[in-house]
Amino acid sequence: MYTVIELSYIASAVLFIFGLKMLGKPATAVRGNKVSAVGMLIAVVATLLHEGMDFKWILLGMVIGGVIGTVAALRVPMTSMPEFVALFNGTGGLASLLVGWAEYNTFLNTPEGTLELVPVIAIYLAVLIGGVTFTGSMIAYAKLAERIDGRPVLYKGQQIVNGVLLALLLFCGGVYIAGPGTALAQPLFYLAVLLSLVLGVLVTIPIGGADMPVVISLLNSYSGLAACAAGFVISNTVLIVAGALVGASGIILTSIMCKAMNRSLTNVLFSGFGAAGDAAAAGKAATGEVKAITPEDAYYVLEAAGSVVFVPGYGMAVAQAQHVVRELGYLLEQNGAEVKYAVHPVAGRMPGHMNVLLAEANVPYEQLVEMEDINPNIESVDVCVVIGANDVVNPAAREDETSPIYGMPIINVDLARSCFVLKRSMRSGFAGVENPLFYKENTRMLFGDAKASITTLVDQFKSA
Ligand code: NDP
Repeated sequence: MYTVIELSYIASAVLFIFGLKMLGKPATAVRGNKVSAVGMLIAVVATLLHEGMDFKWILLGMVIGGVIGTVAALRVPMTSMPEFVALFNGTGGLASLLVGWAEYNTFLNTPEGTLELVPVIAIYLAVLIGGVTFTGSMIAYAKLAERIDGRPVLYKGQQIVNGVLLALLLFCGGVYIAGPGTALAQPLFYLAVLLSLVLGVLVTIPIGGADMPVVISLLNSYSGLAACAAGFVISNTVLIVAGALVGASGIILTSIMCKAMNRSLTNVLFSGFGAAGDAAAAGKAATGEVKAITPEDAYYVLEAAGSVVFVPGYGMAVAQAQHVVRELGYLLEQNGAEVKYAVHPVAGRMPGHMNVLLAEANVPYEQLVEMEDINPNIESVDVCVVIGANDVVNPAAREDETSPIYGMPIINVDLARSCFVLKRSMRSGFAGVENPLFYKENTRMLFGDAKASITTLVDQFKSA
């Protein structure tokens, strides 16, 4: 049986790797997800083949977890996916913490029990990283779900407090690893559980505003590392492999996110984005005249356009406008225009948010273009249609050195021949930063819910 289990684990690991690879491209992402899910199913079944399983508890856990997971997944709106992902990461961290803790308890309650160095260290890492991931993710969840203020919380001596906490955790870990069964190690182990939970809160509260995407992917990576440590604790190969894959892909995604925002990871973690007073944090006040346009007038411009680029943002997710956008794209093509969809890496509220929505609406993959590819040619685009995007098209990132988002790469819609911005008001986006795009000479504001505005445009095309 051992061989069957280990071979199944290898098969799962291979499927995970192929699944991850396929997730890297919109065209293969859905299949990649299915391939990974099959890998997970094989891993779960193989794990249940181990001897000495107490199926009563496992079944109870599967039923409770399955019901909660299914109901939550069915009910969660697309706009709440980021906080849902934060919750997932958090529960993963908590599971690893509990595995480490339970294994330590088993060791303490087994009179002749001994622990090798690897599991001793793995238990500590599972508890430490799991604890930080759990509370860190809960704070990220609360910020994204607007249950608490999303702005960074900064105070004097913050780094020192965090440093002291980390030093204490190292001390506890040192004593525990030197002799896990000693009278001193036991209380210090439980102190470490508590401190890791506190550390998770303290390292996440200074992060806020537009830096949240980086935090989500970083916590995702932590949850993988914690699972990897838990895999070493219970000597489960597939958990080690899966944890390592999540840890590594989370770090890669974190680095892509940082690059997309032109920030270093240390800057994201410690600079407290947008924490300064509201006015300073909003950058220079934009000046100029705001020119509104009606859907009817917008139709005449689009009707005459030879090339149109849609730039979706979080507002498209709120309005659930992806299907009508796709329809408008189709009608424009029928009218002879070249149509593209330019996706910024941090548009929306989670990595790949816009790609998921556009794929749901069956936008052809070949019409999707990345920021780096559209920017060099944007000056020749007749109309950029910005659908509920704000921060990712904010030219202050290029022009205003005092802006908190200065240096972040954006889609340069303001350099196109003309630009329509579809949003409901003049309010700022997630980063709370003023947007001079709305005042530019070639910008027209199409106020209203994005879905309603695009539907009117679609109707105009259909009735023409
Ligand atoms: P923004 O949050 O900057 O702007 C969204 C805009 O959508 C708002 O200005 C809002 O304006 C408009 N909007 C909201 N509802 C509607 C509606 N029904 N119809 C039309 N417009 C609407 O979004 P972006 O996508 O441009 O930028 C993403 C931001 O989120 C970045 O700052 C990024 O760093 C951050 N972030 C990204 C994450 C990720 O992983 N992608 C995760 C967490 C944060 P109005 O209210 O006037 O309608």
